[in-house]
Amino acid sequence: MANLTRDFFIGLSNNKLLNTNAKKYGFRLGAEKFVAGTNFDSIIGIIKDLNSEGISCTLDNLGEFVTEKSEAIEARDDIIDMLYKIHEQRLDCHVSVKLTQLGLDIGDDFCINNMHAILKVANRFEIFINIDMEKHIHYGKTLEILNELRKEYDNVGTVIQSYLYSAEDDLAALEDVRIRLVKGAYKEDASIAYPSKEDIDRNFMELAKKRLLGNTFTSIATHDHNIIEELKSFVDEHNISRDIFEFQMLYGFRTEMHNELAQAGYHFCTYIPFGSDWFGYFMRRLAERPQNINLVLKDVFYTKGNKLKKEPVIAGVAALSLLMYVNKKRKK
Ligand SMILES: Cc1cc2nc3c(=O)[nH]c(=O)nc-3n(C[C@H](O)[C@H](O)[C@H](O)COP(=O)(O)OP(=O)(O)OC[C@H]3O[C@@H](n4cnc5c(N)ncnc54)[C@H](O)[C@@H]3O)c2cc1C
Repeated sequence: MANLTRDFFIGLSNNKLLNTNAKKYGFRLGAEKFVAGTNFDSIIGIIKDLNSEGISCTLDNLGEFVTEKSEAIEARDDIIDMLYKIHEQRLDCHVSVKLTQLGLDIGDDFCINNMHAILKVANRFEIFINIDMEKHIHYGKTLEILNELRKEYDNVGTVIQSYLYSAEDDLAALEDVRIRLVKGAYKEDASIAYPSKEDIDRNFMELAKKRLLGNTFTSIATHDHNIIEELKSFVDEHNISRDIFEFQMLYGFRTEMHNELAQAGYHFCTYIPFGSDWFGYFMRRLAERPQNINLVLKDVFYTKGNKLKKEPVIAGVAALSLLMYVNKKRKK
């Protein structure tokens, strides 16, 4: 059942038409629980509040299914604009980007040029740029481009997904690169990724420990309290400096733990997604954990005063699915 739910929501996240329609119709379906706002100005208050609690942020100006050069250039310029604002307002933030948003599916050189433009400004303002890891189809290219960019910039890193069999070797090859370690959010084939949660978790733990014994900064990105507790003990046992790692969690998830970890003296960073292109991100979060659907349903169905609302998530998803179906029929 959990696998079916996961496949259903991953399927929705991959649907270009649903993404486009969701963008047109604006924030719906309870997305605001996990997506902080529709533009940078609407999230500045959130960033400042987190910073005042000792929590840093990584910002993701959401964007998926970029196939036109103009869209990638717009995304690049928005990111550059955001870098100026982070600098001017002295926000404790770095930036997460997706190479597909910057034109990876259009052309490698085009994408690399967009990254150069971003990194030039980020470098000047000493802001770190993290390249999110996407579906495996983009994996090799992402690592190649990272290596190319690192010839010129050291303020760029990426993400390693512990569900991949290759994660250990890839992480070893990136020994000197700042890395975010995650379990992996996409549906991948068993020929390249561990199918079982036990193996993914075990690999995550082993890789995190290996990184912690090295000297390069690592972001341990998980909401899994068992992993976090074990790693906290590991760090104490091995006298590992808290300055070589941080915990990262997504905006809207286990918020109480963000504060607890920051207050306990760990570096903590909240990943803040924002923008109008929220649908794919939101569906992947629903795919990850069936309970997230309940959380959203509660928010969507009920007001704070526990009164029933009118915009249920199921109706929203159904409406979008229907739209997709009608559009498909119309095209035939
Ligand atoms: C900051 C950040 C950045 C990410 N970037 C990427 C990326 O670039 N590429 C990519 O592929 N993936 C990325 N991910 C997603 C990641 O790969 C996982 O899909 C996602 O984090 C779910 O795995 P998990 O370890 O958090 O917890 P899970 O494996 O989903 O859950 C483990 C256990 O933790 C507890 N738990 C988890 N969530 C909650 C909750 N909300 N409330 C209460 N208990 C909970 C439950 O007991 C659960 O059984 C990112 C995740 C984070 C946090």
